Amino acid sequence: MNPVNQRIVLLGPPASGKGTQADRLSDTFGIPHVSTGALLRSECARGTVLGREADAATSKGLLVSDELAVRIVANWMQEHGPRFLFDGFPRTVGQAAHLDAALTSLKAPLDLVILLELSDEAIRQRILERISCLKCGATYSTSLHTHAEGDACPRCGATLVRRNDDTAEALEQRLKVYRELTMPVVGYYEETAPRILQRIDAGKGSDDIFAKLSSLVVGEN
Ligand SMILES: [Zn+2]
Repeated sequence: MNPVNQRIVLLGPPASGKGTQADRLSDTFGIPHVSTGALLRSECARGTVLGREADAATSKGLLVSDELAVRIVANWMQEHGPRFLFDGFPRTVGQAAHLDAALTSLKAPLDLVILLELSDEAIRQRILERISCLKCGATYSTSLHTHAEGDACPRCGATLVRRNDDTAEALEQRLKVYRELTMPVVGYYEETAPRILQRIDAGKGSDDIFAKLSSLVVGEN
């Protein structure tokens, strides 16, 4: 299938399933799923100029600047072409604005910004019932009683654990960061690109969400 929309930003709160959905979309449509965290770690590990700049910031306990984060992404696009599925990026309005500028200079504007919406109550329930495989990233809910902490991961055999940031206190902090940083990013796209902003109810089942996302990617909306 040849997707119409190939430059996609997927936004959503913790536990909205955006990483899983991005993987599925990437497998189905062949659009690269880009994790900016992984890009950053790879630049640092390779000791590139950008990596050293990022190291200098993080070793002082600072966040990588919006401008540097987007330069790392733009650098990746030069090598791989302007087709991507960003999951959880841009994280700030500054990053969104820098990304727009970079894409404008490539004459390759964003095609779609998709917000996966989930109520705070549903987020809390999902996170506090979640066990994860730290090896392959799969997640399972203990509420279904098919998997428990300490079981083997059905996908790769590693041990399922409760992530140490999946606690009530850590979650409140992540929700606060999400509201303070990412919600304004949604506002930014509401103002600058309302036609490409789509909202999806992430409280539905994973297959329903994937079907809806797929129809947006192929341009059936
Ligand atoms: Zn696994």
